[in-house]
Amino acid sequence: MKALLRKVKAAGVRTAGLWRSHRVSRCLVCGQAGRSIRFENGCCPDCNSQLQLVRRAYCPGCGLMYALEAPVSLCLECRFLPKPWDGFGVFGPYEGLLRELLLKFKFQEGLGYGRILQSLLFRAYAEHLHPFLPDCILPVPLHPVRIAFRGYNQSLELGRRLARDLQVRIRPKGLVRLHNTPPQAGLNRKERLANLKGAFLADPDVVQGQKILLIDDIYTTGTTLTACAKALKRAKCKEIRVLVLARAQA
Ligand SMILES: [Zn+2]
Ligand SMILES: [Zn+2]
Repeated sequence: MKALLRKVKAAGVRTAGLWRSHRVSRCLVCGQAGRSIRFENGCCPDCNSQLQLVRRAYCPGCGLMYALEAPVSLCLECRFLPKPWDGFGVFGPYEGLLRELLLKFKFQEGLGYGRILQSLLFRAYAEHLHPFLPDCILPVPLHPVRIAFRGYNQSLELGRRLARDLQVRIRPKGLVRLHNTPPQAGLNRKERLANLKGAFLADPDVVQGQKILLIDDIYTTGTTLTACAKALKRAKCKEIRVLVLARAQA
Protein backbone atom coordinates (compact mmCIF):
# COMPACT_ATOMS: atom_id res chain seq x y z
CA MET A 1 0.00 0.00 0.00
CA LYS A 2 2.78 2.39 0.93
CA ALA A 3 4.56 1.60 -2.30
CA LEU A 4 1.38 2.34 -4.24
CA LEU A 5 0.91 5.69 -2.49
CA ARG A 6 4.48 6.62 -3.31
CA LYS A 7 3.82 5.73 -6.95
CA VAL A 8 0.66 7.86 -7.12
CA LYS A 9 2.46 10.75 -5.48
CA ALA A 10 5.31 10.40 -7.90
CA ALA A 11 2.83 10.38 -10.79
CA GLY A 12 1.44 13.66 -9.46
CA VAL A 13 4.89 15.19 -9.37
CA ARG A 14 5.50 14.03 -12.92
CA THR A 15 2.19 15.56 -13.99
CA ALA A 16 3.29 18.90 -12.62
CA GLY A 17 6.68 18.67 -14.26
CA LEU A 18 5.47 17.48 -17.62
CA TRP A 19 5.36 20.74 -19.54
CA ARG A 20 8.69 21.88 -18.28
CA SER A 21 10.26 18.62 -19.39
CA HIS A 22 8.96 19.08 -22.93
CA ARG A 23 11.46 21.68 -24.19
CA VAL A 24 11.52 22.67 -27.85
CA SER A 25 12.85 25.75 -29.66
CA ARG A 26 10.27 25.72 -32.45
CA CYS A 27 6.53 25.01 -32.45
CA LEU A 28 6.03 21.42 -33.55
CA VAL A 29 2.73 22.36 -35.22
CA CYS A 30 3.24 25.67 -37.08
CA GLY A 31 7.01 25.95 -36.96
CA GLN A 32 7.01 29.35 -35.25
CA ALA A 33 10.31 30.02 -33.46
CA GLY A 34 11.61 32.76 -31.21
CA ARG A 35 13.47 33.24 -27.97
CA SER A 36 10.65 35.11 -26.27
CA ILE A 37 8.06 32.46 -27.08
CA ARG A 38 7.04 30.19 -24.24
CA PHE A 39 6.45 26.74 -25.68
CA GLU A 40 4.19 24.30 -23.87
CA ASN A 41 3.61 20.69 -24.96
CA GLY A 42 5.86 21.43 -27.92
CA CYS A 43 3.49 24.16 -29.17
CA CYS A 44 3.54 27.95 -29.35
CA PRO A 45 0.84 29.89 -27.44
CA ASP A 46 -1.21 30.37 -30.65
CA CYS A 47 -1.42 26.63 -31.28
CA ASN A 48 -1.92 25.85 -27.60
CA SER A 49 -4.89 28.20 -27.47
CA GLN A 50 -6.52 25.98 -30.09
CA LEU A 51 -5.91 22.86 -28.01
CA GLN A 52 -8.10 23.33 -24.96
CA LEU A 53 -8.60 20.54 -22.45
CA VAL A 54 -12.30 20.04 -21.69
CA ARG A 55 -13.11 20.68 -18.04
CA ARG A 56 -16.74 21.76 -18.08
CA ALA A 57 -20.03 20.93 -19.76
CA TYR A 58 -19.39 17.33 -20.73
CA CYS A 59 -20.66 13.83 -19.89
CA PRO A 60 -18.24 11.94 -17.57
CA GLY A 61 -19.53 8.64 -18.98
CA CYS A 62 -18.80 9.13 -22.67
CA GLY A 63 -17.32 12.61 -23.08
CA LEU A 64 -20.27 14.06 -25.00
CA MET A 65 -19.83 17.82 -24.87
CA TYR A 66 -22.69 20.19 -24.25
CA ALA A 67 -23.10 23.45 -26.09
CA LEU A 68 -24.13 25.42 -23.01
CA GLU A 69 -22.16 25.99 -19.82
CA ALA A 70 -23.86 22.96 -18.28
CA PRO A 71 -22.38 21.20 -15.24
CA VAL A 72 -20.44 17.97 -15.66
CA SER A 73 -23.35 15.51 -15.79
CA LEU A 74 -24.26 12.20 -17.42
CA CYS A 75 -25.94 12.47 -20.81
CA LEU A 76 -29.31 10.79 -21.41
CA GLU A 77 -27.75 7.78 -23.10
CA CYS A 78 -25.30 7.13 -20.24
CA ARG A 79 -28.07 7.58 -17.68
CA PHE A 80 -30.28 4.93 -19.26
CA LEU A 81 -27.58 2.64 -20.59
CA PRO A 82 -24.51 3.02 -18.36
CA LYS A 83 -21.23 2.34 -20.11
CA PRO A 84 -19.36 -0.83 -19.10
CA TRP A 85 -16.41 1.10 -17.62
CA ASP A 86 -15.70 2.71 -14.27
CA GLY A 87 -14.24 6.02 -15.39
CA PHE A 88 -13.64 8.06 -18.51
CA GLY A 89 -11.31 10.82 -19.60
CA VAL A 90 -11.05 12.85 -22.80
CA PHE A 91 -8.92 15.76 -24.00
CA GLY A 92 -11.37 17.61 -26.23
CA PRO A 93 -13.83 17.59 -29.13
CA TYR A 94 -12.78 16.03 -32.43
CA GLU A 95 -12.58 19.28 -34.34
CA GLY A 96 -10.20 22.07 -35.32
CA LEU A 97 -6.50 21.62 -34.68
CA LEU A 98 -6.91 18.46 -32.58
CA ARG A 99 -8.72 16.77 -35.48
CA GLU A 100 -6.08 17.98 -37.94
CA LEU A 101 -3.25 16.59 -35.80
CA LEU A 102 -5.00 13.25 -35.35
CA LEU A 103 -5.65 12.88 -39.07
CA LYS A 104 -2.03 13.66 -39.88
CA PHE A 105 -0.89 11.25 -37.19
CA LYS A 106 -3.17 8.51 -38.48
CA PHE A 107 -2.95 8.72 -42.23
CA GLN A 108 0.26 10.44 -43.19
CA GLU A 109 3.75 9.95 -42.04
CA GLY A 110 2.66 11.90 -38.99
CA LEU A 111 4.43 10.07 -36.19
CA GLY A 112 6.16 13.36 -35.33
CA TYR A 113 2.82 14.75 -34.23
CA GLY A 114 2.60 11.80 -31.90
CA ARG A 115 4.78 13.69 -29.44
CA ILE A 116 2.23 16.47 -29.07
CA LEU A 117 -0.69 14.07 -28.95
CA GLN A 118 1.05 12.00 -26.26
CA SER A 119 1.36 15.16 -24.15
CA LEU A 120 -2.32 15.93 -24.63
CA LEU A 121 -3.24 12.40 -23.61
CA PHE A 122 -1.21 12.78 -20.46
CA ARG A 123 -2.97 16.04 -19.64
CA ALA A 124 -6.37 14.38 -20.14
CA TYR A 125 -5.30 11.59 -17.78
CA ALA A 126 -4.05 14.08 -15.18
CA GLU A 127 -7.27 16.11 -15.34
CA HIS A 128 -9.86 13.35 -15.46
CA LEU A 129 -8.38 10.12 -14.09
CA HIS A 130 -5.51 10.95 -11.73
CA PRO A 131 -4.87 9.61 -9.04
CA PHE A 132 -6.26 6.38 -10.52
CA LEU A 133 -3.24 4.24 -11.25
CA PRO A 134 -3.80 1.27 -13.60
CA ASP A 135 -1.97 -2.04 -13.32
CA CYS A 136 -1.53 -1.93 -17.08
CA ILE A 137 -2.48 0.06 -20.17
CA LEU A 138 -4.17 -1.60 -23.14
CA PRO A 139 -4.58 0.13 -26.50
CA VAL A 140 -7.69 -0.60 -28.57
CA PRO A 141 -6.25 -3.19 -30.96
CA LEU A 142 -6.23 -3.09 -34.74
CA HIS A 143 -6.47 -6.26 -36.78
CA PRO A 144 -2.98 -7.47 -37.88
CA VAL A 145 -3.96 -6.88 -41.52
CA ARG A 146 -4.61 -3.23 -40.80
CA ILE A 147 -1.42 -2.85 -38.82
CA ALA A 148 0.46 -4.32 -41.76
CA PHE A 149 -1.24 -1.78 -44.05
CA ARG A 150 -0.69 1.25 -41.84
CA GLY A 151 2.55 0.24 -40.19
CA TYR A 152 1.51 0.92 -36.61
CA ASN A 153 -1.40 1.02 -34.19
CA GLN A 154 -1.99 4.70 -33.39
CA SER A 155 -3.56 3.93 -29.98
CA LEU A 156 -0.52 1.92 -28.96
CA GLU A 157 1.83 4.76 -30.00
CA LEU A 158 -0.28 7.30 -28.11
CA GLY A 159 -0.21 5.23 -24.93
CA ARG A 160 3.54 4.60 -24.82
CA ARG A 161 4.50 7.83 -23.12
CA LEU A 162 1.71 7.62 -20.56
CA ALA A 163 2.86 4.10 -19.68
CA ARG A 164 6.41 5.39 -19.27
CA ASP A 165 5.38 8.37 -17.16
CA LEU A 166 3.17 6.27 -14.88
CA GLN A 167 5.71 3.46 -14.84
CA VAL A 168 3.13 0.86 -15.77
CA ARG A 169 3.29 -1.66 -18.58
CA ILE A 170 1.53 -1.26 -21.87
CA ARG A 171 0.24 -4.68 -22.96
CA PRO A 172 -0.76 -4.62 -26.63
CA LYS A 173 -1.32 -8.36 -26.65
CA GLY A 174 -3.72 -8.30 -23.69
CA LEU A 175 -6.58 -7.55 -26.05
CA VAL A 176 -6.64 -8.74 -29.65
CA ARG A 177 -8.90 -8.13 -32.61
CA LEU A 178 -10.07 -11.39 -34.15
CA HIS A 179 -11.95 -10.11 -37.20
CA ASN A 180 -10.94 -7.45 -39.64
CA THR A 181 -14.37 -5.84 -39.43
CA PRO A 182 -15.55 -3.49 -42.18
CA PRO A 183 -15.41 0.22 -41.29
CA GLN A 184 -18.11 1.35 -38.88
CA ALA A 185 -18.91 4.58 -40.73
CA GLY A 186 -22.39 4.66 -42.19
CA LEU A 187 -23.79 1.99 -39.84
CA ASN A 188 -26.36 2.65 -37.14
CA ARG A 189 -25.80 1.66 -33.51
CA LYS A 190 -27.40 -1.76 -33.86
CA GLU A 191 -25.45 -2.57 -37.01
CA ARG A 192 -22.23 -1.37 -35.38
CA LEU A 193 -22.75 -3.67 -32.40
CA ALA A 194 -23.54 -6.62 -34.68
CA ASN A 195 -20.48 -5.76 -36.76
CA LEU A 196 -18.25 -6.02 -33.68
CA LYS A 197 -19.81 -9.10 -32.07
CA GLY A 198 -17.01 -11.45 -31.06
CA ALA A 199 -14.44 -9.13 -32.64
CA PHE A 200 -12.27 -8.79 -29.51
CA LEU A 201 -10.69 -11.32 -27.20
CA ALA A 202 -8.89 -10.49 -23.93
CA ASP A 203 -6.12 -12.66 -22.50
CA PRO A 204 -7.05 -13.67 -18.90
CA ASP A 205 -3.35 -14.16 -18.11
CA VAL A 206 -2.86 -10.42 -18.71
CA VAL A 207 -6.10 -8.86 -17.47
CA GLN A 208 -7.64 -11.10 -14.78
CA GLY A 209 -7.94 -9.19 -11.49
CA GLN A 210 -6.21 -6.14 -13.02
CA LYS A 211 -7.08 -2.44 -13.10
CA ILE A 212 -7.04 -1.58 -16.78
CA LEU A 213 -6.63 1.71 -18.59
CA LEU A 214 -8.01 1.32 -22.11
CA ILE A 215 -6.77 3.84 -24.66
CA ASP A 216 -8.14 4.98 -28.00
CA ASP A 217 -7.56 8.00 -30.21
CA ILE A 218 -11.12 8.96 -31.16
CA TYR A 219 -14.44 8.14 -29.53
CA THR A 220 -17.18 8.14 -32.15
CA THR A 221 -20.19 6.17 -30.94
CA GLY A 222 -18.46 4.13 -28.26
CA THR A 223 -19.36 0.75 -29.78
CA THR A 224 -15.72 -0.27 -30.28
CA LEU A 225 -14.77 0.65 -26.69
CA THR A 226 -17.92 -1.04 -25.40
CA ALA A 227 -17.02 -4.25 -27.24
CA CYS A 228 -13.46 -4.06 -25.85
CA ALA A 229 -14.69 -3.44 -22.29
CA LYS A 230 -17.05 -6.42 -22.52
CA ALA A 231 -14.22 -8.66 -23.68
CA LEU A 232 -12.10 -7.45 -20.74
CA LYS A 233 -14.93 -8.17 -18.33
CA ARG A 234 -15.36 -11.66 -19.74
CA ALA A 235 -11.69 -12.20 -18.91
CA LYS A 236 -12.46 -11.02 -15.35
CA CYS A 237 -10.52 -7.80 -15.09
CA LYS A 238 -11.07 -5.84 -11.88
CA GLU A 239 -11.69 -2.34 -13.15
CA ILE A 240 -11.70 -0.49 -16.48
CA ARG A 241 -11.15 3.20 -17.17
CA VAL A 242 -11.14 4.63 -20.65
CA LEU A 243 -8.98 7.46 -21.93
CA VAL A 244 -9.38 9.00 -25.39
CA LEU A 245 -7.94 12.06 -27.03
CA ALA A 246 -10.93 13.28 -28.97
CA ARG A 247 -14.69 12.94 -28.80
CA ALA A 248 -16.59 13.15 -32.08
CA GLN A 249 -19.80 15.05 -31.50
CA ALA A 250 -22.98 13.37 -32.66
ZN1 LIG B 1 2.37 27.00 -33.32
ZN1 LIG C 1 -22.64 10.08 -21.94
